[in-house]
Amino acid sequence: MSFQVFGIPVSRGVAIGRAVLVASSRLDVAHYYIAEAQVEPEIRRALRARDEVALELETLKQDLPGDTPHELAALLDVHLMLLHDEALLGATKHWIVERHYNAEWALSAQLEVLARQFDEMEDDYLRERKADLEQVVERILSALAREQGNAPVDASSVVQRDFAGEDPLLLVATDIAPADMMQFKRSVFHGFITDIGGKTSHTAIVARSMDIPAVVGTREASRLIRQDDWVIIDGDAGTVIVNPSPIMLEEYRFRQRQSELERARLARLRHTPAVTLDGERVELHANIELPADALAAVESGATGVGLFRSEFLFMNRGGELPSEEEQFVSYRAAVEAMRGMPVTIRTVDVGADKPLDRLSVSELRHEHVLNPAMGLRAIRWSLAEPSMFRQQLRAIYRASAFGKVRLLIPMVAHLNEVRQILESIKKVRQQLTDSGQAFGIVDLGVMIEIPAAAVMLPLLLRHVDFVSVGTNDLIQYTLAIDRADEAVAHLYDPWHPAVLQLLASTISYARNAGKSVSVCGEMAGDPVFTDLLLAMGLRSFSMHPSQIPSVKQRVLRADAGRLTKSLAAVLQSEDPQRAAELAFAAQKAPSVPH
Ligand code: PEP
Ligand code: MG
Repeated sequence: MSFQVFGIPVSRGVAIGRAVLVASSRLDVAHYYIAEAQVEPEIRRALRARDEVALELETLKQDLPGDTPHELAALLDVHLMLLHDEALLGATKHWIVERHYNAEWALSAQLEVLARQFDEMEDDYLRERKADLEQVVERILSALAREQGNAPVDASSVVQRDFAGEDPLLLVATDIAPADMMQFKRSVFHGFITDIGGKTSHTAIVARSMDIPAVVGTREASRLIRQDDWVIIDGDAGTVIVNPSPIMLEEYRFRQRQSELERARLARLRHTPAVTLDGERVELHANIELPADALAAVESGATGVGLFRSEFLFMNRGGELPSEEEQFVSYRAAVEAMRGMPVTIRTVDVGADKPLDRLSVSELRHEHVLNPAMGLRAIRWSLAEPSMFRQQLRAIYRASAFGKVRLLIPMVAHLNEVRQILESIKKVRQQLTDSGQAFGIVDLGVMIEIPAAAVMLPLLLRHVDFVSVGTNDLIQYTLAIDRADEAVAHLYDPWHPAVLQLLASTISYARNAGKSVSVCGEMAGDPVFTDLLLAMGLRSFSMHPSQIPSVKQRVLRADAGRLTKSLAAVLQSEDPQRAAELAFAAQKAPSVPH
């Protein structure tokens, strides 16, 4: 039966494929395809892991002390029974043979199928056996991981599947932590659907950076969609169509082709400089998460990196932080890849919905941190860990010997923070000089993402070279809306008059002070806001590389001077969105010949 699920559109485009349901707790399970020749060995690997677990459970049972309550032995029997049930390993084999999934993926796919069946059982006792099944699968996954630890995945057995003629796969999960999202960057999935999340949650941001359709905040997609269902993700409307009719499929396939054509058309703008009709030059920079993303930045025609979110180098490491050397190598790689164009490296911004380890937003909400978004996040964390902070600064400064590097500090709200940052920079420069290490001139910038920073901007500007507005957080903190919470997503409003006032005043103050100002939040990459930001005087935008062509197209069609004339009316309006639509559209009306 065909049905629809509605959520929040976070990454544009249409994806059509089969649903792969993955429990959030198992997102760290490797998902890769194996070669045909690897199918039999992979099945044997799964069976070996099962036998190992069987032995483990038998031994546990035998070693139970005499006074152990008999329920415990009975529980182990249940686990053994589940372990040997054909519904688990037999069907897991099917995923390996038919789909060429690696054993871990096949096993977790089958767990999702069985978990659903347990959920639907009438009998309480049977329904509760789902937890036992999960424990058994957890044991098998651990056995597979142990084996993997001994013999790492043979790269030749991992296949980059060519999707011509194949069914693309779309990931469906309750929630995906930003750290897990990173591992999907080079993965087999062509789209994402989650129950939780908001438009600018970091999970959404990474999905956008991958340039694949995604819908979040659906609340119950992972409950309603079944493993292997055919699904359409409409990343523009925020709709998920499950088991679509042939007519629907045809309609969306047509839309897919249209948007591919549109992309190809926009890609031709790559080498065109972003200059408005009245000759204003606009910098379109890229936001990146990893040095490897710099390649996409160059290919998209970016004229620099406006935001390198360095925190992604700190994730997925089991709590261990990257060394100075490791960071230096990454920063240098990005700087070199940008071939002389500026690279703005932001110091680590962990905390809030970006924990260091694999916690998803829903897990975070159950953590002890009362309100992570307002807690020890970003520069607050860096200043609380001064040696870690100086280590990062040293790595960034060392990279500046290889190209143009700018240093950006997130979440600044107090002048005292700026003083401490300047003090740390001084120390680091001295250390590098003493040890004979080269470094270049590094401009210092702060992010304007807490309303306090926007309000006290003139004071901040005395100490820094540039500012970059993080609209994602500026909106979150101005409107007191958790950006990762789908329950208040409807209140997350970039058009809110208070947000626009702060944005306009920040841009104008910085410009008047002769300091460079850019916007690197998601507003910068959304063409809906291009005219507005140009009208406010913004001339430097930073966004995901894939968004550059459509923003550039808007810039090329804009007359910045004329747009600015309408700004006051927009800012004073009770409905700025409508006012902007009217005012800016009027600018574009073809002039009537006399
Ligand atoms: C922002 O807050 O707008 C921003 C660019 O930083 P992040 O999204 O990483 O918090
Ligand atoms: Mg931010």
